[in-house]
Amino acid sequence: MTAWEDSVRDTARAVQQGASAVRLVEASLARIEATEPSLHAYLHVRGDGAQAEAAQLEQMGASARAALPLAGVTVAVKDNLVLKDAPTTAGSKILAGYVPPYTATAVARLQAAGAIVVGKTNLDEFAMGSSTEHSAYGPTKNPWDPTRVPGGSSGGSAAAVAAGTVVVALGSDTGGSVRQPAAFCGVVGLKPTYGRVSRYGLLAFASSLDQVGPMGRRVADVAQVFYVMAGRDPHDATSVDGPAGDPTPDAGGSLKGLRVGLVDSQRAAAGPEGQAALDQAARALTDRGAVVSSVDLPHSRYGIAAYYVVAPAEASSNLARYDGVRYGVRGEGRDLAEVYFNTRGEGFGTEVKRRILLGTFALAEGYYDAYYLKALKARTVLAQDYRAAFASVDVLLTPTVPEPAFRLGEKLDDPWAMYQSDVMTVGANLTGLPALSLPWGVTEGGLPTAVQLTAPWLEEARLFSTAAALEASRPHPWTGPGRKGRTGS
Ligand code: GLN
Repeated sequence: MTAWEDSVRDTARAVQQGASAVRLVEASLARIEATEPSLHAYLHVRGDGAQAEAAQLEQMGASARAALPLAGVTVAVKDNLVLKDAPTTAGSKILAGYVPPYTATAVARLQAAGAIVVGKTNLDEFAMGSSTEHSAYGPTKNPWDPTRVPGGSSGGSAAAVAAGTVVVALGSDTGGSVRQPAAFCGVVGLKPTYGRVSRYGLLAFASSLDQVGPMGRRVADVAQVFYVMAGRDPHDATSVDGPAGDPTPDAGGSLKGLRVGLVDSQRAAAGPEGQAALDQAARALTDRGAVVSSVDLPHSRYGIAAYYVVAPAEASSNLARYDGVRYGVRGEGRDLAEVYFNTRGEGFGTEVKRRILLGTFALAEGYYDAYYLKALKARTVLAQDYRAAFASVDVLLTPTVPEPAFRLGEKLDDPWAMYQSDVMTVGANLTGLPALSLPWGVTEGGLPTAVQLTAPWLEEARLFSTAAALEASRPHPWTGPGRKGRTGS
């Protein structure tokens, strides 16, 4: 049995009307137990805590329970978001044994709405990677094909949702880490507008790019979780007000007059299956009354280079706090310098060290103008590209990823190849724009394909309405992994 059919709305309604939240949590835990040996999506499962919260929900007065929009909805949370009294590792050895004394705002808001966190999910160490293979605790496998990666860095969350262990999950997206694994695992993933969701309690990777984002099996699930999480938080000075309105997008709505820009250069960068998915999606939008035209983002080819300077630069500063004194494990040493050296030398993995070195180099005196400042300039021209595009279209349509899920180990020894996974996703982070990945079809080989929608700042509602219409127009009935798929072409 998988929980593939469970939606946020149906689950919450049932629990509001008296269905047993304890049973739902038990079903989730049983599914985790059945799938973990092959997937390894979780780093920590909080069985007792989740069951106790479900029991509390059942004992609540009926009217209080009826007011909870996420009553009994099971959630998996990426292990770089803190949850009080549950271990948080960020996929790193350096945080082994760390138990945070507080809960991230995004998670606390879901809990206050009745959601139940059943576990913390695997990720690339400190969210640096595109495959979860950089986790110090071993990789997660793709539920569609366990010889393949689930994507990353939120690969555990994507696999947890795709395998039906939870209704929804949270990830974080600094350069694509919600959308790329969502695309690889056949689930919906949203990177909200920068600032839309509080970063309080998200372990910082690159603070000017990081956003928390929801993942789910359908657009409405992701929208409903987003509306609960979004909004200003006094603990995050960059946070902005949440959107008002109805969190349930109308799948049957007409798209008459919606202007969609197909980014040709990104279409060309996708493989044949990705291009076929994109063309089908463009046709489906046209059928619904949208007007699809070609647009250009002339500087998007600089996106990867700019991202891989800006993100490591910020990371080199953010990760300075892991010094063996304040958090987690501590290396031995005769003096403080040696303690730092040994803690960081033993505690960080190769990819994290590579980023710290890259970032420190890019910020060093004499190199700052050539690298960091130049990357900031590229970021500005990229933002101008998007602004120019949004002068003539309402939403952009691109692939999410250049290719479907790759094999475990395939890119592990080739950082440059791994970084190319993000070529279609980093643009939204560098510019702060909201973007959503929608599963489209299934390749001949049985792997999910996906398309990406990008909207102007704060226009998540437009992403949801467009994506919901597309979701309803998919050529084949969409089912989860383990069932024979149909090609998307
Ligand atoms: N794959 C990208 C990187 O390695 C993005 C990671 C992310 O979004 N957290 O930096």
